[in-house]
Amino acid sequence: MVVSRKEKFYSLQCSQCGILQDHSKGVSLCVDCKAPPDIFYSKPASLDFSQFRDVRLANYFPGLWSMWDVLPLHDPSNIVSLGEGGTPCVPLKNIGNKLGLKDLWAKLEYLNPTGSFKDRGTTVMLSAAKEFGLTRLVEDSSGNAGSSFASYASRGQLDASVFIPEHAPNAKRLQISFYGADVYPTSGTRDDVAQSAVDYAAENGLYYSSHNISPYFIEGTKTVAYELMLWSGNRPIDHMIFPVGNGSLIIGCWKGFKEVKESRNYDDAQPVTFPKLHAVQSHACNPIVSCWRGTQWDVSQVSNGIAGGIMVGTPPRGFQVLQVLEDTSGSAVSVSDGDIGTWQKLLAEEEGLFVEPTSAAAFAGLELLVADRTISKGDLTVVPITGFGLKDTKNLDVG
Ligand SMILES: [Zn+2]
Repeated sequence: MVVSRKEKFYSLQCSQCGILQDHSKGVSLCVDCKAPPDIFYSKPASLDFSQFRDVRLANYFPGLWSMWDVLPLHDPSNIVSLGEGGTPCVPLKNIGNKLGLKDLWAKLEYLNPTGSFKDRGTTVMLSAAKEFGLTRLVEDSSGNAGSSFASYASRGQLDASVFIPEHAPNAKRLQISFYGADVYPTSGTRDDVAQSAVDYAAENGLYYSSHNISPYFIEGTKTVAYELMLWSGNRPIDHMIFPVGNGSLIIGCWKGFKEVKESRNYDDAQPVTFPKLHAVQSHACNPIVSCWRGTQWDVSQVSNGIAGGIMVGTPPRGFQVLQVLEDTSGSAVSVSDGDIGTWQKLLAEEEGLFVEPTSAAAFAGLELLVADRTISKGDLTVVPITGFGLKDTKNLDVG
């Protein structure tokens, strides 16, 4: 291996009260406030966040792990990788013309190894699990995170049990089981599925390794921000639009941008400007949008919606998403299934992008943000395409 082991350089702390956690025993919610933990780097001066792409690693791991210096792993031999990260940004001129935007781009996260952005989080989460000697893991997922989890568990020779909603798309269910994971279709709400996974892990002495609460998952998704800083160069990105369920991508990007900004300011180099980060949810399930607008929200309001990836009624990191929106002067909007379907078709017919409904939701939200003049004609706007279209086709007509 081309890089050497790092000694203790980070800690796990509760994201609300700051109490320290023993990360060698895995990840759990804070015993006091039930909030998920975050990773805090204890030696920021030794981590060069401003020179984040390690040329020594770029050939060995061309994508995400070339950012080894800013990721929470001690021993490079524990890396479980399938070459994730390093996804391209492509211009959306046709859609941009329709919306009146001159500088609209898509970051193609569906080109990650299992077809969604989740691979960024999973590679870090399961590499850390391997480092801690954990071998039997339990996850819950609407589909994409479960597929990613099953794939990387196979790669790392770990036993995986994945709880999914009983109505999860067949393609996602098939993908999870084909990697060799044990799949447990579960009835009830998305939150009921998570609780079943927690109970199963506790009853069987297994480790609940949920992307919903894992800080390692967030450390993986933050690499999108690092890549975008390299991509945009000196020109600041004005807006990013995210479909938000648990919020791991928008929270991760926020962390990545902050780390780069803090390190550059520390070095008294060129200041870094944040993009405004916007969250899009579905009318069928919009806890973040409700909170942002100050309207009533109760999990009993969740109804059936076609965008399975954002049907999360009680996101454990919801308070962090709201903080991101506030810190970046972003916003939160809610969209209908009808508009999601329209945009899914438009993206395919106008740009050649076959995306799943959750990804299309971001564009339905973008349309609203343009209409209310939150986003202007010349603004540099980037939308991550979070998941590939063939993963969820049950609402599509062959036509
Ligand atoms: Zn706490």
